[in-house]
Amino acid sequence: MEYSIQQGITNLLDELKSYLFSQRELYGEDIYVDYDLQKEPKRSVKIESNRDKLIKFYYEIKDCKKCELAKNRTKLVFGGGNPDSKIMLIGEAPGFYEDREGKPFVGKAGQLLDKILNAIQLSRDQVFITNVVKCRPPENRDPLPVECEACNFILKRQLEIMEPEFILILGRVAASVLLKSEGSIANLRGKIYQVSGAQAVVTYHPAALLRNAGLKRSTWEDVQMFQKLYQ
Ligand code: URA
Ligand code: SF4
Repeated sequence: MEYSIQQGITNLLDELKSYLFSQRELYGEDIYVDYDLQKEPKRSVKIESNRDKLIKFYYEIKDCKKCELAKNRTKLVFGGGNPDSKIMLIGEAPGFYEDREGKPFVGKAGQLLDKILNAIQLSRDQVFITNVVKCRPPENRDPLPVECEACNFILKRQLEIMEPEFILILGRVAASVLLKSEGSIANLRGKIYQVSGAQAVVTYHPAALLRNAGLKRSTWEDVQMFQKLYQ
């Protein structure tokens, strides 16, 4: 008799525990603090992940026509990688292959970027990569200031959602947008900047390295400096 009462209590406690756990899964820790069955939960009960927020935002802007670049694009290149990463890499604009696939840095410059990341023990799924301009400029020309300006709301929102702690700025165009500076990379590199609450470092764009191998040494120094920041 005693045994079965004991057993009954144990079962009841187990059930209660699993009920509370399921409540916590549904409503978060708040349920313990704000426990009141008469009231509606005060806060929105589900916490939205960065991935959810980015996807939702992507669907809001995927048909953007805010600048002339919309006319010739195949796909808008939103960005990719790990939405929870504290490290963001920001390039210039999509090229031919990026426009075709809708993904950032998939052409030759992208392959070199992978090697650069590898050299500092990072892979693509540990960072988030995007560009200051999301649609391909004709013939891969530099995006115009007016296009960078028009597109900035997207990058701004991405930064707001992800709150990166470290940003690697790739090339002069991205630097001009993010640092509001017209300086050359030679002048801008080697320093740490504050961008949207993150520590930012500037280096050469991988496409520039493909044209001029002499820039590799400086780039190596820059990314090592970047590595020291986040390690
Ligand atoms: N160059 C860039 O700046 N971004 C890309 O996505 C590809 C090439
Ligand atoms: Fe819109 Fe940016 Fe594409 Fe211009 S480049 S159409 S602003 S997404």
